[in-house]
Amino acid sequence: MKNIRLLQRYRLHTSTRLSNYSLHNSIPQDLPTTTISNPKNEEQIIKISQLPNSRLISISDYFSGNSNHLHHVFYSNLIQNRSRRALKIEKKKFIDLKTIKLSSGNGGNGSISFFKDNLKSFGPPDGGDGGNGGNIYFNVVDKNLNSLHYLNKKYIAKSGENGKRGQLDGKNGEDIIIDIPLGTIIRWIPDPLEFKKYITNREGQSLDDIFMELEIKDNKIQLNRNSYKSGEGWLYRDNEPEYYHEKEFFQELNTKVLKYDEELEFEEQQQDQFPLFGIDCDELTEKPILFLKGGKGGLGNMHFLTSNIRNPKFCKIGRSGITENFLLELKLIADLGLIGLPNAGKSSLLRAISNAKPRVGHWEFTTLQPTIGTIQYKFDTPPFTVADIPGIIKGASENKGMGLDFLRHIERSGGMCFVVSLESEDPTADLNLLINEVGSKRMENKKVLVVATKADLSNEGENFKILKNYIETKFKDWKIVPVCAPRGENIDKCLQLMSETAEKGRSNLKEENTVNNL
Ligand code: GDP
Ligand code: MG
Repeated sequence: MKNIRLLQRYRLHTSTRLSNYSLHNSIPQDLPTTTISNPKNEEQIIKISQLPNSRLISISDYFSGNSNHLHHVFYSNLIQNRSRRALKIEKKKFIDLKTIKLSSGNGGNGSISFFKDNLKSFGPPDGGDGGNGGNIYFNVVDKNLNSLHYLNKKYIAKSGENGKRGQLDGKNGEDIIIDIPLGTIIRWIPDPLEFKKYITNREGQSLDDIFMELEIKDNKIQLNRNSYKSGEGWLYRDNEPEYYHEKEFFQELNTKVLKYDEELEFEEQQQDQFPLFGIDCDELTEKPILFLKGGKGGLGNMHFLTSNIRNPKFCKIGRSGITENFLLELKLIADLGLIGLPNAGKSSLLRAISNAKPRVGHWEFTTLQPTIGTIQYKFDTPPFTVADIPGIIKGASENKGMGLDFLRHIERSGGMCFVVSLESEDPTADLNLLINEVGSKRMENKKVLVVATKADLSNEGENFKILKNYIETKFKDWKIVPVCAPRGENIDKCLQLMSETAEKGRSNLKEENTVNNL
């Protein structure tokens, strides 16, 4: 009991920093600043203001200048100017963003014990070490996962057990391995509960004036665990701490143990870093990757037997684990993304070509979550996947209609499929709008197919002719095909072209990857 009381007192006394970061509503003017850009996505630039011992980043920058996106992540019910029905659907279906809280385990405490047998009543110290706290790892898996809904909100690894008599070490806390779908980006985030306080009632407003103060080293966020300070974290028996602290033999021992603590702390500092731009899970993992390391177990009293300490009635407590929040963002990787205006006939097309059953409807944004269909065109061609992306509207690239969220989904597919309705007054203008919103950067090195839908409603084929001419003169390597999805007309030709586009896109991506890896 006494040990526990002292331990609690010590944990309180010895905690160094309470958290990794702090949030500010404004910052001093004229701080020296630098900018860094994400090597994987040059559009993402973060401006860093420098304080003597820390750095400041605006929340908007950290989340790619996209406040709507941010509200969506932390507080989706803040977006009021959307119908309740849409919100309901969105809550249920738009689940490719998820925040999770992870805690690695604390190290177990060392043990204070002395060897006993029939002859010796009080032998040498034999208290073992505490076990290490459980680590948290992740594995990137390819299980055709199209959402993150299966993940828990929280993962807490067990603490290590305390050391035992007879030089026995405590059991290590069990590790946790989390499966993450291929295509996910993992970013560190502040505690969502605390964060929400700063963005409540600010929907639609810029969040440029909210800053995170962090430690940043080499484009990595330095996280900190709330553990005892080097040279502290002792656990005593029979006497109060003050008794030992006055003794020379103890002070001498503690200078040595302090060095050991410093090593542990240094190791932790190396472990407790997370890339500023997150981890891009674009490759399967060969072995699990460490997220958060558990705390190291404390030393048992058997280590403290020296020529002037014959009966060490003290040991070390375990190092603390670490608790952090992360945002997972799943970018779907389909071979082809169907890009079109709302009502162009994307969902009908996907339904006609695959066994996916997207909802078809008259209203805009029927599809709030991308649906992916797997298509086996012929038994001897490889299957390919097609994503039905919610309608792109003018201004999508400025996030109108949640456009940026949707554009994210097509960034990685090897091929693109523009879906243009021939019922439209000016299909060429529609196509140009789509091209503009997608942007040339996202289209680089991509194979493109244009599917002209609602061929039955085309004015005697006139619209199709104009569109075809336009494409043939302007984009020489693009293909175009007219279809009427509900009647299944020309679907076979469309499938053949899609299959080719997907296949070419795939080999293009492969080439790119091999070049990058050289
Ligand atoms: P999305 O918003 O692009 O996914 O469009 P949908 O697939 O939901 O289709 C919008 C509307 O157009 C629906 O009412 C469909 O029935 C209709 N539609 C889709 N394709 C065709 C077509 O080829 N011909 C005709 N007449 N109507 C179509
Ligand atoms: Mg649709």
